[in-house]
Amino acid sequence: MSPKDSDLMEKIVSLCKRRGFIYPSSEIYGGFAGFWNYGHYGAILKENIKCLWKQRFIFDREDMFVTDTSIISNPKVLEASGHVSNFGNEIFKIQVGTGEDATTSHLRPETAQGIFADFKNVIDAHHPELPFGVAQVGKAFRNEISPRDFIFRLREFEQMEVEYFIRANEWEKHFEDWREIMKGFAADIGIENMHELEVPESDRAHYSKRTIDFQFDYPFGRGELWGLAYRTDFDLKNHNLDYLDEKTGERFVPHVIEPSLGVDRTVLAVLLSAYTEDELGGESRTYLKLPKLIAPIRTAVFPLLKNKPDLVSKAREVYSMLKKDISNIQFDDNGNIGKRYRRQDEIGTPYCITIDFDTLEDDTVTLRDRDTGEQKRLKITDLKEAII
Ligand code: ATP
Repeated sequence: MSPKDSDLMEKIVSLCKRRGFIYPSSEIYGGFAGFWNYGHYGAILKENIKCLWKQRFIFDREDMFVTDTSIISNPKVLEASGHVSNFGNEIFKIQVGTGEDATTSHLRPETAQGIFADFKNVIDAHHPELPFGVAQVGKAFRNEISPRDFIFRLREFEQMEVEYFIRANEWEKHFEDWREIMKGFAADIGIENMHELEVPESDRAHYSKRTIDFQFDYPFGRGELWGLAYRTDFDLKNHNLDYLDEKTGERFVPHVIEPSLGVDRTVLAVLLSAYTEDELGGESRTYLKLPKLIAPIRTAVFPLLKNKPDLVSKAREVYSMLKKDISNIQFDDNGNIGKRYRRQDEIGTPYCITIDFDTLEDDTVTLRDRDTGEQKRLKITDLKEAII
């Protein structure tokens, strides 16, 4: 992407709508500021990003637990955390129950507090030794004064957060470890030109001893993508929680390192990094250079002609064979081949396979590479290896 491209955001918004990635929420009623819907390809892309995050931040490690806590909690959780007194207007107030029994609570503005409030349950259930982490992916809500810039500043969004519990004297090492994991994840999902901002003390939350904002050059300027904070023992202390070292009998309040990633800003940075315009075969084209690990469709399978039953049934055979091992394979016979390539390029499909008359003779197909447009002939039996 070229940061100079001032209409890039419009192009992305338009591609997202045209191809079924992201739509304004409640569009038939004029939309609703700060709320967007993910369509078919957008929802798959987002899911793939979350799955890869879970892989890198949770399952590749041995010291992580997963949680999925409620969006609405006892009001005391957000009172104890300081959110109600510090961000009173920015969190959505709700009534739980009706009439005289109604309780005022809030939609959570971050997933983190659910993790802290459950700290004792995790300890009692799993007896983990320090350091260990608890991770959560889920919705968060903020009554932002001016939601804007597509899915950058939303009122309803998703977060992928880790609260990593440590001994205070080890914070620098763990901070660096998570910093590297975040950078590796950005590379995995194709985010280019991420910048690290060492947040000065004057701009940090008062409880944070160190914060790095991972920033991205959006078309409207450089802005926050993710955050990494050393939150000290602030949160567990707020909730009056501590930890007993079962080996030494020592009781203390662990400290916390928090990598916090917004899912929607990640989707936006991925789309902006992937968006490419070039010339292919003398024609201009647009494609999404999405890494194959997160592309909504890994490979599309085409019969050259829709009205030739032999080609269609052979293409169906190849499609079913590949789909057994790779679920996101798509059968596409809509429009001429050129149109199908253009559609798959805009969806970000890394490979297209065409079944033609030669296939019926020699069991070879054409495999087209999205980025180079190069086509090569290979045996059906070699396809899986080529696209995996
Ligand atoms: P900002 O300064 O942009 O308001 P923040 O510092 O308040 O963000 P955090 O509280 O650190 O954000 O939240 C962690 C992550 O959640 C952010 O890095 C971002 O990816 C995401 N996030 C926060 N607010 C929003 C929002 N209104 N819309 C979409 N994503 C958000």
